[in-house]
Amino acid sequence: MVIDFGGGVLGALQRYADPNAVNVLLSHLHADHCLDLPGLFVWRRYHPIPATERGIMYGPANTWARLGAASSPEGGEIDDFTDIFDVRNWVDGEAIELGTLNITPRLVCHPTESYGMRFTDPSGATLVYSGDTGYCDALVDLARGADVFLCEASWTDDPSRPPRLHLSGAEAGRAAAAAGVGELLLTHIPPWTSREDVISEAKAEFDGPVHAVVCGEVFDITR
Ligand SMILES: [Zn+2]
Ligand SMILES: [Zn+2]
Repeated sequence: MVIDFGGGVLGALQRYADPNAVNVLLSHLHADHCLDLPGLFVWRRYHPIPATERGIMYGPANTWARLGAASSPEGGEIDDFTDIFDVRNWVDGEAIELGTLNITPRLVCHPTESYGMRFTDPSGATLVYSGDTGYCDALVDLARGADVFLCEASWTDDPSRPPRLHLSGAEAGRAAAAAGVGELLLTHIPPWTSREDVISEAKAEFDGPVHAVVCGEVFDITR
């Protein structure tokens, strides 16, 4: 299962899993969250050892049309990739089962249809991923009591930031504290934002463990 599929993911994925065997969950359709998928479509169609079954892909309402357009070399045409993926749309608050996981999507606050996701395994261990979002009640509700909260923090807490778009480190920490999570993992920090400032903002708001993730790290989620 791969959560979001932005630039560079197809290359990195090959170190961890067979690209022919993954399901894909998309928070939203901004390019940094989905545009390595046309490369995955080529992989799945032309690999000499084909996948034994279609992958499952969940995303917002426009997932098939937007990714089909991105995968087509001709303007105005859509590459219908339903031969390799069973494309399904999230319904806000409606849980799905995938493998042994229960996954609940929640619409969060971003300029395009965008979902956070709550993953619960049979033991009750819970991971919540914020997707891209501004601060909102839906995010705090979704993260409530999670063992691990993987949360975006795109900015430091500068009042000139545009509203309803992304979180600062302070807001990520505030959401983690309000939701009572066990651990806060920060992601989506761009190279032009100070990681150290984002981390210290979050730590000032949240008493639990705070860590900014880097590529290749592995985490156990248990309770
Ligand atoms: Zn976005
Ligand atoms: Zn993003």
